[in-house]
Amino acid sequence: MLRLTELKLPLDHPAEALRSTVLERLGLADDALLEMRVFRRGYDARRRSAIHLIYTLDLVLRDEASVLRRFSADPHVNPSPDMRYRFLGRAPEHLPRRPLVVGAGPCGLLAALILAQMGFRPIILERGKVVRERTKDTWGLWRRSELNPESNVQFGEGGAGTFSDGKLYSQIKDPQHHGRKVLEEFVKAGAPEEILTVSKPHIGTFRLVTMVESMRATIESLGGEYRFGSKVAELLIETGADGARQMRGVALDNGEVLEADHVVLAVGHSARDTFAMLERCGVYLEAKPFSVGVRIEHPQGMIDRCRFGDFAGNKTLGAADYKLVHHASNGRAVYSFCMCPGGTVVAAASEPGRVVTNGMSQYSRAERNANAALVVSVGPEDYPGGPLAGIEFQRRLEEAAFRAGGSDYRAPAQTVGDFLAGRPSTSLGEVVPSYKPGVTPTDLAALLPDFAVSALREAIGAFDRQLRGYARPDAVMTGLETRTSSPVRVRRGADGHSLNTRGLFPAGEGAGYAGGILSAGVDGIRTAEAVARSLLGRSVAA
Ligand code: FAD
Repeated sequence: MLRLTELKLPLDHPAEALRSTVLERLGLADDALLEMRVFRRGYDARRRSAIHLIYTLDLVLRDEASVLRRFSADPHVNPSPDMRYRFLGRAPEHLPRRPLVVGAGPCGLLAALILAQMGFRPIILERGKVVRERTKDTWGLWRRSELNPESNVQFGEGGAGTFSDGKLYSQIKDPQHHGRKVLEEFVKAGAPEEILTVSKPHIGTFRLVTMVESMRATIESLGGEYRFGSKVAELLIETGADGARQMRGVALDNGEVLEADHVVLAVGHSARDTFAMLERCGVYLEAKPFSVGVRIEHPQGMIDRCRFGDFAGNKTLGAADYKLVHHASNGRAVYSFCMCPGGTVVAAASEPGRVVTNGMSQYSRAERNANAALVVSVGPEDYPGGPLAGIEFQRRLEEAAFRAGGSDYRAPAQTVGDFLAGRPSTSLGEVVPSYKPGVTPTDLAALLPDFAVSALREAIGAFDRQLRGYARPDAVMTGLETRTSSPVRVRRGADGHSLNTRGLFPAGEGAGYAGGILSAGVDGIRTAEAVARSLLGRSVAA
């Protein structure tokens, strides 16, 4: 099979134009092209008056070798890479101790699935509830201002991204094509097939719920076992005469002990009590940079017009997204993050007395507003004091947001006009904030560090020059956005084991090795392979 990349066709081209363009591009007669499959389809909207679709195609040709010879100097004509997933091996019949996977987010799910597919029958420990029950608790905060600290947007089956836009793209390096395996498993679990071909796939929150259930059924059918309401509260570590530390099991918060020599730790970025437990148990941790800021909302129609001009509303393009970066004069990077076209801002707190924002959408992305996190980089120099100091920094911001919102889980909000003018908002304009259970107009600048406020003000002006209307006075900012990535890194070696605790495999977003659903899933696969190597006695580096 041959892969042809960067094939450009006008938006809304007739279906048959794809084949004729391929034939023309490669100088082939019609009967020389036996089969054609779209591997990826993206678009180039840099010129709004001439938006193009960009295809990557896999082709079966009558004489592939001669075409490859003819186009040997063309970087866009190559043999198709073999992207099939290959298992490292098979678990032995009698495994003395089953591996544990802590956390049923995308990282834990993919780690458990791969281990189960190899026959290792993992046990998955999840502190939260099954996804349907969890959904009710999550809505409890959004509708009734009732937060369940063990079952919410961050905790429970499916992990943090379950109530999300389900964006499934990432910029990670993925030479082994593990991202493809993640997407294929998602399709088997009920995701739309198009996620395999469109360049920026998304699933929307409803599908994610059923997919997570389907993946559970698969894992269980392969001998895996789930334990919900099972928070890991202690690691059982044996220290040898030479000081070497080896995992021997975990204790749950109900006192139950599970013995294990291999424990995948995929707890996400909000498991603050678990990070404290890791520190108590002497696991090697480091403070890590992350970002803080607000969610900003604009009318989706305005973003569509800015990005697509006369093509706004085009079905193939869908609701427009954006990605903006500004390097502020005080040295801080400001960027948009987790942009949700046609979505809503959601309450994403997991601790009582704190307010955190995030965003989600349905598959249709049909809500009135576009939202995105607008965040400023922060690092350990902003929160000196050890590996967990970033968590305290987050908590201070989240508590200030809670108080400013009215101490009842409403979030503080401000119009862009008032934020730029340096005055508190007392009312809002045409852009109606979507955050539930509601917002309180106030002064967000009083809640964020001064460097973040000045960087955000500068960035909004710069972004307005790229997307006209970005600084419109009635755009709404809701805060605070603090859980952009983990404030902690649980460092591991090239073999996947924790730097100082053999048998502990830190993974996913919480350990600082992923950011987003797809990269967390990819890291889950890598970690499952590291566990399998260790269990099978292979010494190949991960
Ligand atoms: P998590 O998904 O956080 O999963 C960790 C799991 O571990 C949780 O289920 C938790 O309950 C469990 N756990 C924690 N501590 C313990 C313990 N001690 N014992 C047992 N279990 C424990 N990313 C995207 O790519 N696209 C998006 O559109 C997107 N939208 C988002 C929207 C929202 C509202 C949120 C909150 C996040 C969104 N993200 C999105 C980010 C994405 O969800 C995360 O990057 C991803 O879920 C990280 O996966 P993970 O498996 O590493 O951790």
